[in-house]
Amino acid sequence: MEQFVPDYYKDFRCAAAACTDSCCRAGWLIPLDGETYDYYLSRKIDIAAGTETDPDGDRVFKLNPDGSCVYLKDGLCSLYTVCSRQGEICEKYPRFFEEYDGFREAGISVSCPEAANLILNRADNPYHDLSRKTDDRLLAFLVSARAEAMKMIYGEPDPDIALRRLVGYSAQLQELIDADRLDLIGECGFGSAPRLRLNMPAVRRFILNETEILSERWRELLGSEPCRAGTKLERRNYLAYLTYRWFLKAINSEYVLGQCRLIAVLYRLASQLCGDYRLAVRLISREIEHDSENVDMLLDFLE
Ligand code: SF4
Repeated sequence: MEQFVPDYYKDFRCAAAACTDSCCRAGWLIPLDGETYDYYLSRKIDIAAGTETDPDGDRVFKLNPDGSCVYLKDGLCSLYTVCSRQGEICEKYPRFFEEYDGFREAGISVSCPEAANLILNRADNPYHDLSRKTDDRLLAFLVSARAEAMKMIYGEPDPDIALRRLVGYSAQLQELIDADRLDLIGECGFGSAPRLRLNMPAVRRFILNETEILSERWRELLGSEPCRAGTKLERRNYLAYLTYRWFLKAINSEYVLGQCRLIAVLYRLASQLCGDYRLAVRLISREIEHDSENVDMLLDFLE
């Protein structure tokens, strides 16, 4: 199956011990695949002592009380140091993969500081080729709409207005989906930039009270006074990243307006959380994007 990636994908390099905010300290319960588990056993590593079974029945790495992986030593994975092999998930991170009917897409997640720097510093459009071949009629519609949306995002000087245009466009697309008139996609456009009615204080309260919170930093940030964060370049690149990652997921729900509301809420959160924009983007990704239950809960809340 053909795989597509953004331009920056190939440039990613893990900073390892020099990382400023290691994924191994994120508080994630990382599953270890059986093949690597057996390999560690064959190398006489007492891997059972450093792993446990999580509530879903997966074998996961144990965490220290501060949320760091028990195998993190001096900023490096001690398992890799000993035998040059990591579990599948550790090895792939921060890469993510999405399979669709006829093609596969990959990217890197802004939850990693090195990936975030590559994505948010970009001066040009790294998603210039978004054409995809598929036999699925709705997916073809969404693919075509996403490509138009991305052109608009990189053509509109103000990313806040681009966000409003995106949501306005998705409302038009949704009407066509609901009426089963996908053939009329050419009639949808970005002329209007309607005001966004997003109740951000309520969104923050919902995230604080209803979603699983992994880090105190995230809790503190959600409770801080709203302020203005991020340069136009960072905000535009974050909006494009979110659109690349979340727009086509409407294939599952047939609700592209909901996906774009999710994009809008994540974008606004990053812009309003005080302090370091990149930290906010990273924590949003670690706490929301990487937890499908939190994403689903947020989507339901936004309906
Ligand atoms: S967060 Fe990124 S750069 Fe840091 S250790 Fe993990 S993969 Fe490497």
